[in-house]
Amino acid sequence: MIIGTQKTQCALCGKTHLLQIVRERKSIQYKNQEVNYWATFYKCLNSPVDDNEFIGINQEKSNALNIINEYRKNNNLLTSDKIIEIREHYGLTASELSRILGWNSNLIDLYETVLAQERENDHILMKIKDSPSFLYHRLKRTKNILNQNKLTQLNLLLLKEIKEKKDYFED
Ligand SMILES: [Zn+2]
Repeated sequence: MIIGTQKTQCALCGKTHLLQIVRERKSIQYKNQEVNYWATFYKCLNSPVDDNEFIGINQEKSNALNIINEYRKNNNLLTSDKIIEIREHYGLTASELSRILGWNSNLIDLYETVLAQERENDHILMKIKDSPSFLYHRLKRTKNILNQNKLTQLNLLLLKEIKEKKDYFED
């Protein structure tokens, strides 16, 4: 369906003109599975009918996110929104949380934007969501990732949640 129009540089005919913005259900192979997702793209009415679609840069990003989130729903994995929610609950940046978990510092950022996590790492993210104790113990093993003030604040929050949830476990 056509969801709007926009005057922009056309990648097909090279001119700047009014393009249709179209949203359609598409299918793609991702991690060896067929994934159906909502794709948004431009349509140029000056081009031949069989080759009149192209994807803008911002559309490419949101399409990629739609693909990984549909894949996650199909496989019962946390979606990008959920991962962001978990991270922001503890006031951490994507890089800080990655490093606390001993992952490459850009991994959480990739999970939030273009890459679906492996099942093993999904379990770890679920533990962070469900168990303040788990993050508390992880944090004790890390050095120089958070500044002293941020570390103190986070530990206070975690100890409060551990008490509320009675989530006591020794690592
Ligand atoms: Zn065009």
